[in-house]
Amino acid sequence: MKRLDTASPDFPAAFAALLDEARDTTARVDSVVAGIISDVRARGDAALIDLTARFDGWTPANAAALRVTPEEIEAADARIDAERRAALNLAAERIEAFHRAQLPHDLEMKDSAGLTLGMRWGAIDAVGIYVPGGKAAYPSSVLMNAIPARAAGVPRIAMCVPTPEGELNPLVLAAAKRAGVTEIFRIGGAQAIAAMAWGTASIAPVDRICGPGNAYVAEAKRQVFGRVGIDSIAGPSEVVVIADADNDPRHVAVDLLAQAEHDESAQSILIARDAAFADAVATAVEEELKHLPRAAIAGESWRRHGAVILVRSLDEAADLTNRLAPEHLQLMVAEPRALLARVRHAGAAFLGRYCPEAVGDYVAGPNHVLPTGRTARFASGLSVYDFLKRTTWVEADEAALAVVGPAAVALGEAEGLTAHARSVALRLGG
Ligand code: NAD
Repeated sequence: MKRLDTASPDFPAAFAALLDEARDTTARVDSVVAGIISDVRARGDAALIDLTARFDGWTPANAAALRVTPEEIEAADARIDAERRAALNLAAERIEAFHRAQLPHDLEMKDSAGLTLGMRWGAIDAVGIYVPGGKAAYPSSVLMNAIPARAAGVPRIAMCVPTPEGELNPLVLAAAKRAGVTEIFRIGGAQAIAAMAWGTASIAPVDRICGPGNAYVAEAKRQVFGRVGIDSIAGPSEVVVIADADNDPRHVAVDLLAQAEHDESAQSILIARDAAFADAVATAVEEELKHLPRAAIAGESWRRHGAVILVRSLDEAADLTNRLAPEHLQLMVAEPRALLARVRHAGAAFLGRYCPEAVGDYVAGPNHVLPTGRTARFASGLSVYDFLKRTTWVEADEAALAVVGPAAVALGEAEGLTAHARSVALRLGG
């Protein structure tokens, strides 16, 4: 863990190094992925069967075996115990309520020239969700990707999940059912992305693909972008916690470790004014690490990428946060709203001493798919807007065209686009 202090003369260089730290060590797999995509395009389902046998350790008997049947989904759903079912339902309801509240309104205005101008929102026809990891897959990711799509009104939501050794995670299937996924395929990696983008005899193509995955999945999404839309390419997770000395150091410590346990490349940063408090948190991190099942991962992340930054004021904390543009931000201070008002760049913020980021991972309602790697400077978390698009429209009658048309004629002529100019001029009687 690095210790930085804004009062130190070498702070600017140390902070610049922190901003530039390379954490995404994803391997370059462009050519392997290009090969897989062209194989799926050329051979369709036959390629999916071969690639599944090669990478996921089971051989589908035929293309139909790639699809999870309604009976399998029901059987998996029936195996979920009552406590987990209740938790899944609570999470789903809350995520749905928040995303439904985001739905935007159409726009219509009549301007002084007499034109009526409008903008209409409409849902994408078909979305494909990638769920990584097969048996270790995260049901919360299924909810966070599928529910906004359904709330936006997407009628078809396909899902691909690899099934190492042919096994499925029942909670993932239950989450998919609860979230309104309409079809599920046991396909993983670049071949799943290729199948959803280009379609095969048994999988109809989709219009947008979202969901995280390993290097092959991320590269495949990059390569199919343009034919289909994609969400962002997620990098390693990160959190900035701004905490005052009135917090229990253990609470702050576990919040930092909750991010660090994702993977060794994750980053947890504490910003504090009180040096003794920061030391107490660092000690508590070491103590908690003794009991954490994922201590090897969390400890490595904390040692390699963790940081404690001492500041003189909350203004300074907000300035540094804006430069870090973190995926997650916890504001554990007396007046978190006032501090939030000074923060311009963060994927999602969690306010107060009783609002650990994990609540946002699962049950708060806002999305947990968030911009990483400082992309919160220009990007936002997943929402219903990712599954909607806009159509603008214009209505003009003869009188309205007479007002704005001459300017269009002038600009059309200036650009040398004569037919453009004439299409207006003829209607104006010119
Ligand atoms: P995955 O589903 O992403 O990838 C499995 C697939 O990778 C296999 O089905 C196979 O097709 C492909 N593959 C593996 N080796 C290959 C090879 N040599 N050549 C070609 N293809 C190959 O599952 P995973 O590997 O367990 O990775 C999960 C990833 O998802 C991790 O990187 C994890 O950090 C990430 N993840 C992110 C989030 C998030 O919200 N950001 C959530 C869950 C998981």
